[in-house]
Amino acid sequence: MLPAWLSSADFLAFTLANPEQLPSDLQPLTFQLKNGTDCQIWDTGIICFTPQTYGNNDIVLSCGVHGNETAPIEICAALVQDILLERLQLSERVLFLFGNPPAINAGKRELIDNMNRFFSGAHGISNDRDIDAITDVEISFEKRRCARLEQYVSRFYQAVPAGRERCLYDLHTAIRGSQFEKFAVYPFLHGKPWSEAQFSLLAACDIPCFLLMQTPATTFSYYAAQTHGAHAFTLELGKARPLGENDMSRFAKVADTLRALISGADITTKPFVETDFQLFEVYRAINKQTEAFELCFATSIENFTQLPLGTLLAKDADIEYRVEQPGEAIIFPNANVALGQRAMLMVKPVSIIGQTA
Ligand SMILES: [Zn+2]
Repeated sequence: MLPAWLSSADFLAFTLANPEQLPSDLQPLTFQLKNGTDCQIWDTGIICFTPQTYGNNDIVLSCGVHGNETAPIEICAALVQDILLERLQLSERVLFLFGNPPAINAGKRELIDNMNRFFSGAHGISNDRDIDAITDVEISFEKRRCARLEQYVSRFYQAVPAGRERCLYDLHTAIRGSQFEKFAVYPFLHGKPWSEAQFSLLAACDIPCFLLMQTPATTFSYYAAQTHGAHAFTLELGKARPLGENDMSRFAKVADTLRALISGADITTKPFVETDFQLFEVYRAINKQTEAFELCFATSIENFTQLPLGTLLAKDADIEYRVEQPGEAIIFPNANVALGQRAMLMVKPVSIIGQTA
């Protein structure tokens, strides 16, 4: 039965009313639904569900790591509400994470720090420190939240015996339009094969385009893949719009497939065939080195746009970046990043025949 404070079953609204932490006197934080599903609230925006009987998959669904990327927040909020109202019976253990509630309230990507740059320890908080005792003056809420999300993901995966299937889908929307409306970033696997089952599953989500990374990163998905051996992806689901203004029909296949995945419903997938996909790898990253950095194309340019060989892409004081290779495409351009951070990636098509399993 739902506690009185959650009687609306609107976990997102409750999270946004308590964006930094739960009220200290809130009870109960653990309760059971009539259908036997165990519900545990671990922090603001963090809810873990364990159905009475469950399959072999431990699934993390995260959203709002960037606060203005709203469609995924709406997708996850609807799933959580349906679970709490027993309109959706889970077949798997699921952990939902609403990443950055203060930024969601502000309608901003981040308040101070871009959370998707501070995982795998890049937040700078060692395991033995009490995060509650750290102040904003010392380390931003966002870096502390990254450290907490790592703890929650660890707790979730380690609460059951090893040897199960772990996955984490970190749901985002892009700042700009894209030649491929939806695409997935597949973190570097250090030479392990790319998962055909995951390609097929994500194709069922209407995501046929993948950016295959070849280097470690400080993103949430790389953290889950590298630290926990999870099938982990950053899913870019289209262009960000304000909360409540998304055309949710554009996200129906993702939402329906995730719903089926956590409830054991049938998902129609096709066997993996490389030619069904658009696969890219990073050719080079362009980092902002000086305050003079500027992009030399229209700010409205879409992700995966290809420009002619030799086209001037960016200037950074006396450095010029031009298109060096046929087929090179632009992704994630953003001149408004901190010095030393990535201002854009250049990607090119890649084949992975023989590198999948
Ligand atoms: Zn994002």
